[in-house]
Amino acid sequence: MAHNDDVRRVLAACTACDSVYAARQWPDGETRIIGQDGCSCGSTEFDVVDDAGDPESDPPAG
Ligand SMILES: [Zn+2]
Repeated sequence: MAHNDDVRRVLAACTACDSVYAARQWPDGETRIIGQDGCSCGSTEFDVVDDAGDPESDPPAG
């Protein structure tokens, strides 16, 4: 089967300023953030973040 258009929903961190955005990762490896063309800082380069650890939903205990 060559039908492989699984698009994953991921988090992407700007390589310039570390801002994190919701993004989609395409089967060819391209990552695009959702809702805008690039980061507010002007960068369009992002690293996919492993969403196993989301700092915003994991406040420090105590
Ligand atoms: Zn940025």
